[in-house]
Amino acid sequence: MKMQPKSAGVNKENYTEDELKDIKYMKAAIGQAKKAYALGEVPIGCVIVYEDKIIGRGYNRRNTDKTPLAHAEITAIRKAGKVIKDWRLEGCKLYVTLEPCQMCAGAIVQARIPEVIMAAENPKAGCAGSVMDILNNPDFNHQVVVKKGVLEDECSKLLKDFFIELRARNKAEKEQKGNL
Ligand SMILES: [Zn+2]
Repeated sequence: MKMQPKSAGVNKENYTEDELKDIKYMKAAIGQAKKAYALGEVPIGCVIVYEDKIIGRGYNRRNTDKTPLAHAEITAIRKAGKVIKDWRLEGCKLYVTLEPCQMCAGAIVQARIPEVIMAAENPKAGCAGSVMDILNNPDFNHQVVVKKGVLEDECSKLLKDFFIELRARNKAEKEQKGNL
């Protein structure tokens, strides 16, 4: 299964219907990540899909809102719950551009979301198998089906570009201060 189309676009013949849906919704999550980018936030985005409709969107606003709770997944879970009027998000799929952290993975298990589709792994903080596997711990009462690597290149590049820009900005600021 190949999930990383070249920038020339998706050749639909090479994908199953489910794979095309995954690509479509991951692109929507990338759209959310770009909103974070525009605010100078680490670009992470999330959408929650129910019966082929997006019912929750979120992007990282940690610095903007001054709270570690403002992760993309938490915001999307809050919104989705309001739409379907239930804290249980059974029958929903969560798409996220980066492997969820311990807080978000915990919220995903609490919300009983059956399936998570993610792009890039996060070796330093990911809790879908990288640092630990909260989404698939047999001791919890809920386990999540996890699909990895959907549009991974695109999401990784967005993060890489962000940090390159951030370092350049920090360097320029330092130099400016040095000149005063
Ligand atoms: Zn998180």
